[in-house]
Amino acid sequence: MRDQLLNLQNQALADLAGITGEDELQSLRVRFLGKKGELTSIMKGIGALTAEERPLIGQVVNSVRDCLEAAFESASTLLRDTIKSQKLNNEKVDVTLPGRSLPSGTKHPVSLVIEEISDIFAGLGFIVAEGPEIELDYYNFEALNFPKDHPARDMQDTFFVQNNLLLRTHTSPVQIRTMLKQKPPVRIIAPGTVYRCDYDATHSPMFHQIEGLMVDKGVTFGDLKGILTIFTNQMFGSDIGVRLRPSFFPFTEPSAEVDIACVICRGKGCRVCKNTGWLEILGAGMVDPEVFRHVDYDSENYSGFAFGMGIERVAMLKYGISDMRLLFENDVRFLSQF
Ligand SMILES: [Zn+2]
Repeated sequence: MRDQLLNLQNQALADLAGITGEDELQSLRVRFLGKKGELTSIMKGIGALTAEERPLIGQVVNSVRDCLEAAFESASTLLRDTIKSQKLNNEKVDVTLPGRSLPSGTKHPVSLVIEEISDIFAGLGFIVAEGPEIELDYYNFEALNFPKDHPARDMQDTFFVQNNLLLRTHTSPVQIRTMLKQKPPVRIIAPGTVYRCDYDATHSPMFHQIEGLMVDKGVTFGDLKGILTIFTNQMFGSDIGVRLRPSFFPFTEPSAEVDIACVICRGKGCRVCKNTGWLEILGAGMVDPEVFRHVDYDSENYSGFAFGMGIERVAMLKYGISDMRLLFENDVRFLSQF
């Protein structure tokens, strides 16, 4: 029986040395020290021993049990330490890795251009004015000298909401609203959203314009050219050429289209400027006396100029964007470049 006990002890110690997990440890403990374990089953034989043998074997049983309990305890501690250090190793932080950066948003190129143009004109004494996007026919057309049935209305493909109510086709109605509210002198710019029924690589049904209006005593066409030259120089570079070509708008007389030297080839001629060396950037002119009549300004004493340009067009020229639709697709890979 003594040999049985010592064999059991050796077997248990050997098995214990090979364990790799908490489950194995528990099942070994049950197998050797459990209520129905091997030690208990050997002890069942004690009753058959003689009175002299019993205390001696009892001592061996106690020593084997103590030995195994201590061995299981230290194996358990070792196992916990091993698991803990493995876990720590797996969780260790490599402080030399680059940090995780949070992507920050960028301003839309249309907003950037509106802000830049507004800044330039603020420096020239212009303040920002605004008007509604759903506009009355009167402000969008009639007061700007587009009489009903006038062919010039066909120049702008209009979205009508109801009779006399439409999505403004240009920012020019802000001129009328401003002049009806205040007497000269006037110096405003009006950035905003406008709508036309048109869609291709250079047209969008929704786009942005910025309108300018200056009215005072003695304002001349020379002032218009001077202001626009300062603007284009600040926007596109001080050496950029500017030219005015005669044109027609119902609300200005005389009227002009304003070109800048091609920003791609600097006037030498390329595909973008169709080899002319020039790019059209805005329309402008002296306020027509008929418009002054609608807002009750005295055209004998006051004169003024107005201009308007497409923000998307300016953004495309400034940033070299070939398709206007890129500005409205909201692709983050495109927008984050600005
Ligand atoms: Zn060019």
